[in-house]
Amino acid sequence: MTPPVLVIGRGPAGMLAASLFCLAGVAVDLVADGAGTLPLWSGAWHFRSYDGARLLDDPWQWWADAEGHPYAAWSSQQWREGWQTLSQVWRLAGIPTHPLPSRNWWTVSAAGTPDRAFLVPAWQYAVPAAEPVCLVGFEGLADSLADVQAVRYSRRCNLRAEVLALPSPPGWDGTWSTVRWASYLESEPGGAWLLEELTRRLAGVSDELPLLFPQVMGIRRVADILGAITRSTGRRAYEVPAPPPALGGIRIQEQWTRWLLRNGARFRSGHVDGITEDGVTWHHTQSLNGAAVVNATGGVLGGGLAIRRDGSLWETVAARRLGGSSALGQDGRVVTAGRQLPGCDPDRHGDGGAVNLASAVEAVRGTLQRLGWQPARSAGEGGVGIVESH
Ligand SMILES: Cc1cc2nc3c(=O)[nH]c(=O)nc-3n(C[C@H](O)[C@H](O)[C@H](O)COP(=O)(O)OP(=O)(O)OC[C@H]3O[C@@H](n4cnc5c(N)ncnc54)[C@H](O)[C@@H]3O)c2cc1C
Repeated sequence: MTPPVLVIGRGPAGMLAASLFCLAGVAVDLVADGAGTLPLWSGAWHFRSYDGARLLDDPWQWWADAEGHPYAAWSSQQWREGWQTLSQVWRLAGIPTHPLPSRNWWTVSAAGTPDRAFLVPAWQYAVPAAEPVCLVGFEGLADSLADVQAVRYSRRCNLRAEVLALPSPPGWDGTWSTVRWASYLESEPGGAWLLEELTRRLAGVSDELPLLFPQVMGIRRVADILGAITRSTGRRAYEVPAPPPALGGIRIQEQWTRWLLRNGARFRSGHVDGITEDGVTWHHTQSLNGAAVVNATGGVLGGGLAIRRDGSLWETVAARRLGGSSALGQDGRVVTAGRQLPGCDPDRHGDGGAVNLASAVEAVRGTLQRLGWQPARSAGEGGVGIVESH
């Protein structure tokens, strides 16, 4: 029997690469020694958010004109298909998103500053143009910064930002974590309490303003809760990101993991310490056979992949330099996926999401080609075009 493809790492890049293998009908094992960075994410993927120090309006145009970036050669059509694939994977996994925009969405950061983002979960505030808003805060919730956010938002956008302060719920005490708040708000008494308090206090808020809540509006039932608020108040209701660790990323990781498991991916926990001709070694002595290896070990949180001073990519599992003349860190049967690539600086450019996406697509496509595998046309629950279409 052909062994599975081994994806090392279950951060966003590893999860996406594994999803593309599943959709191509290829057996995949995800091997990881930790949760990766998804639980730190608010949930939005960035295409390209900055042009120097300025927020960038049109990422499509930026990529069309790009030079010197590892993915500068990707056409608008490739990007479009890549983003559509990712949003389809998420939709299949039960993570709805706002439609793919023709310009970056406007959103609000955890600190209250206006921000740009591209692929945004439907629960998160995302609009085509910045507008007056109402920031909702809960007394006693540590990450509830509505008053601070409102001051910063109106100063930066020169737009009105009102504050709606809600009290702490019955039974609340200072030990409540973000997850405790979220599970209370998605319980029946929590939902009833929230709607009652909103109805009581909304009179003071201007009619047309959308209500922006901190990111604690349920764990699994966020869409139901925000929908109930809209039905009951007539207002648009969204979350804005909270500082990490973030419930948005935790929700995504849970849903996405469940979908991968349903589609046959296997999750294995442990530290990989070597790459061999037949797969990898882990736990020092044991080996795992794999038809190919995708190295998605990250590096943002330490360990994983590292970009060296000479611009090459250092792969810490087998302790060797990857890439050769290729900027994309490919070395025979090992390909890399993730934002740690020579020539990228997502912290400055806000293009980490795009690099994760393109590198995962390239890693899967390269692996399938090298192995001479024809992807099944409609594997998984829906079949997605990206793997077949290139
Ligand atoms: C706080 C924070 C918030 C962010 N928010 C966003 C956001 O909202 N939107 C966005 O687009 N980007 C965001 N980013 C950027 C994002 O983190 C990176 O783009 C992303 O982490 C890269 O993902 P990855 O899958 O390459 O790596 P990671 O998420 O770091 O995953 C690496 C995986 O590899 C595993 N691993 C590493 N070495 C080994 C080994 N030897 N053996 C076994 N397993 C191993 C780890 O356990 C982990 O599972 C954020 C980053 C941070 C730090």
